[in-house]
Order: sequence, then structure tokens, then C-alpha cells
Amino acid sequence: MADTPHPASALPYPPVHKDKKFVVLSDWDGTITTRDSNDYMTDNLGYGRDKRREGNMKVLTGEMTFRDSFRDMLESVSANGHTFEECKTLLRRDIKLDPGFKEFYAWCKANDIPVIIVSSGMAPLIRAVLSNLVGEEAADEIDIIANDVTVHPDGKWDIQYRHPDSGFGHDKSQAILPYRDLPDPPTLFFFGDGVSDISAARHADLLFVKVKGDGENDLAAYCKRENIRHVLFEDFSKALPVVQSVVAGERTVAQVVLPVSDGGS
Ligand SMILES: [Mg+2]
Repeated sequence: MADTPHPASALPYPPVHKDKKFVVLSDWDGTITTRDSNDYMTDNLGYGRDKRREGNMKVLTGEMTFRDSFRDMLESVSANGHTFEECKTLLRRDIKLDPGFKEFYAWCKANDIPVIIVSSGMAPLIRAVLSNLVGEEAADEIDIIANDVTVHPDGKWDIQYRHPDSGFGHDKSQAILPYRDLPDPPTLFFFGDGVSDISAARHADLLFVKVKGDGENDLAAYCKRENIRHVLFEDFSKALPVVQSVVAGERTVAQVVLPVSDGGS
């Protein structure tokens, strides 16, 4: 997908974590959570799963940008009369955490490894669900680089994109690339699962792709097609030993991702 290399950002970034040896960046929806909150809203409150999957496939094939497809999904929720607060309440009730994430996060924190959420979702929804799932303290510590929302006086709402001129809406590579410019860049781990992670897939040192039971393994399909090396993982408890082995210097990134054909071990 052709795109500008450095799209202008309409939203601020948190400071880059300098002098770290390792940094974790992770997608939120369907990666740190067990289901994608935007998909969930679209399927249950918006135009439904079939139309959403049509849009997802158009993004995968390059027929449509992620930005436009994702906006359509969310507009269908607002157009059906569902307020942003109603969505927040629903998601706080129904969105669950990956079973291994708390332990993974605690280990990263104890080992001075920042964890940054890089999401195409809207920050206020992520904060609301995150604080509900991991508690206020951890939720406040975790940087979130996401999109935002505009709520209108009549109750309608629109996604506010971080990179409105980019076909990604939020070009996740822009959260990764500043680390490359540091004098002593850290090893970057990126975790993702879906079409929203396509913009990040090529830029991490070690890409973890979540395998899900619902058959919506869009990032895995993309990486296979584009021959992007990655590690498949079912939940964060399975990813933790892999990260630990790299951090301990027992295995190199190259050793972890081989063989390419099945996504490594
Ligand atoms: Mg996702």
C-alpha cells in the first residue's frame, strides 16, 4: 500500500523511551484484549460482521484503505444512534484481557522494558477498558498512541485520525521509527493481530502475530503473503518465554523467527 513516509500527526506523541535495551509496542484490540472492541461494536451495534469482513478483505487486498474502511465501520455504529458513552459502557462490560498479559506486563516492568499500546482505536475507549482490566495504576503507566474521537452536541461521534492524510489513519510505523534514530537503539518487539497492524509489520525487530480461534488471522495472512518474518503466539503467556530468551541473550531475534515457513517457534 503506497503511503507517505512521514505523515503529519494531528495528535501528540508521548516521549520516546531513551536508553532502554528493549521496548515492547503492542496493538490493543484483539491482541492485548481477547476480542477487538471496534469489531465488537460494529458487529453488534453497527452494520454487522458480514459487511465488516468485506471491508477487512478489501484492506488486505489493497482495494480500500484501512482509514476509510475503519471509518465506515464506526460510522455505522454512530448512525444507528449509539452514543460514545453507551459504547464505552458496553466495552467495559464485555472486553476481556488476554489471559497472559498481566504477567507479561509485570515481567516487563520488573525488567525495565517499557510497554506501549499502539492502536487504531480511540484513546478514551482504550483508557476506559484498560483501567477496568489492569487497574488504574498500570493503566496510567502505559503509554497509549492511538486515534481520538470527536463527540458532537447531538450525540453523534466520529473517529479523529492521528494521520488523516495517511491511508492507515494511524500509521503505526511512526511510533516505531523514532527508536531507530536513537544513538543506541533498543530491540523492538511488536505484537499485533489484524489489518490495523499492517503499517507496523515491517518495522519491528521481532514481530509477534496473534493466532486466534475466530479465523480472523488477517495479520498472519498478510505476513505470509508479504514474506515478513514473525513469531506466532496464542496468548501473552506463550510469548513471554520467547521474549525472555531474547532479553537474556539465549537466542537472537534471527534464531527466534526461523523457520519462516511456519512463523518460527
Ligand atoms: Mg488488533
